[in-house]
Amino acid sequence: MAATTTKQVKLEKECELRVEVSPDSPLRVRLLSGTAEIFGTEMPPQVWLSFPPFVKFAVFTWYGATIEMDGATETYYTADETPMVSYVNVHAVLDARRNRAKASPSDSESSQGPRVIVVGPTDSGKSTLSRMLLSWAAKQGWKPTFVDLDIGQGTITIPGCIAATPIESPIDPVEGIPLEMPMVYFHGHPTPSANADLYKILARELAKILERQFAGNTESRAAGMVINTMGWVDGLGYELLLHAIDAFNATVVLVLGQEKLCSMLKDVLQSKPNVDVVKLQKSGGVVSRNAKVRQRARGHRIREYFYGLSNDLSPHSNVANFGDLTVYKFGGGPQAPRSALPIGAEPAADPIRLVQVKIDSNFLHLVLAVSFAKEPDEIISSNVAGYIYVTEVDTQRNKITYLAPSSGELPSRFLIMGSLTWIEN
Ligand code: ATP
Repeated sequence: MAATTTKQVKLEKECELRVEVSPDSPLRVRLLSGTAEIFGTEMPPQVWLSFPPFVKFAVFTWYGATIEMDGATETYYTADETPMVSYVNVHAVLDARRNRAKASPSDSESSQGPRVIVVGPTDSGKSTLSRMLLSWAAKQGWKPTFVDLDIGQGTITIPGCIAATPIESPIDPVEGIPLEMPMVYFHGHPTPSANADLYKILARELAKILERQFAGNTESRAAGMVINTMGWVDGLGYELLLHAIDAFNATVVLVLGQEKLCSMLKDVLQSKPNVDVVKLQKSGGVVSRNAKVRQRARGHRIREYFYGLSNDLSPHSNVANFGDLTVYKFGGGPQAPRSALPIGAEPAADPIRLVQVKIDSNFLHLVLAVSFAKEPDEIISSNVAGYIYVTEVDTQRNKITYLAPSSGELPSRFLIMGSLTWIEN
């Protein structure tokens, strides 16, 4: 059903309005009466919320509501069958565990709140469920930590990264995750298969830092974490999931929409009595996205980093000499010298070895991360300060032009490159 005018929709209790915003223009939505929430965050009464083109979302009501929409939609419909009751039941169990953790002596193991990891195939609703669990927890005053291991989409900063951030209030339905204090590690590729060893190391680094933070902060320790993962659940993807469960010491594994994955995880985790594996139904509202749509979504995330959600940021174009910047990449150089290998064997590239890269014309359109490291050998264990986007490379004058969120000197001269590119349009 397509709509271009103002529409009112009456929702019965425990029903949801599923909306896909048109690709060409934004859509305004407001709550006229009753109560409703968008992915776990309550809608304020009478206030218009403006959703950008392409966005897909649902307005759910526990007790009934009337919603008004103004603008063009690709499609919208109401659904009376949703898995929301089972999701909120999970929230209630997590809430009880947080309360137990809070009541425990701060130096005891039981003072650690739930560490929830959400797994499932692509388009099973992992990010959405993570978001709901975080928003419901924040509504009750907890400050859970959100960890995003899905480097394909990157809900915290941009794709190609793994990141964590505390969630201090319900997540804004339009703006998404707040960008105040993210802890970000740059992998540099939109899929972990490009360098799985690096992905594992960065996940361990992030887990280590969070462990340290939890040790000194009983409040966030009791609130625990919600970890979103990638939709790659076979072969190496499955191995990386098991690695993440182990690295972050997950205590609750929520499996969305796949019996096989759930039973595999139950089998392999049965030796860990403190880990619960729970199967949850996928929502019928989750919208599948093909490779092209995902690629476009990645581009949108990068654009949003530099220009803001509604073009409200003004990035700066800066020019530097090649010599002013030192660029590194992971995965260069041989693992062992040729002389140490059997005759005829070719040395393989060491995936986590850092090599310096000379700036050349191939840098055009690359998105590079600016490391917080003070020395090159700290780069792998350092989080990143932000990103730059290369808009011009002048190999005659050895000058590089790049876009950065602000003008002036970069926080560090150490940059990390991967294969992440973006064409601004
Ligand atoms: P990925 O394959 O990237 O891992 P995922 O499993 O995390 O995906 P989501 O990102 O949660 O899936 O959902 C996919 C899309 O479906 C998103 O655009 C989301 O906003 C939309 N969506 C999720 N639930 C609903 C719903 N109930 N109604 C309408 N849209 C929804």
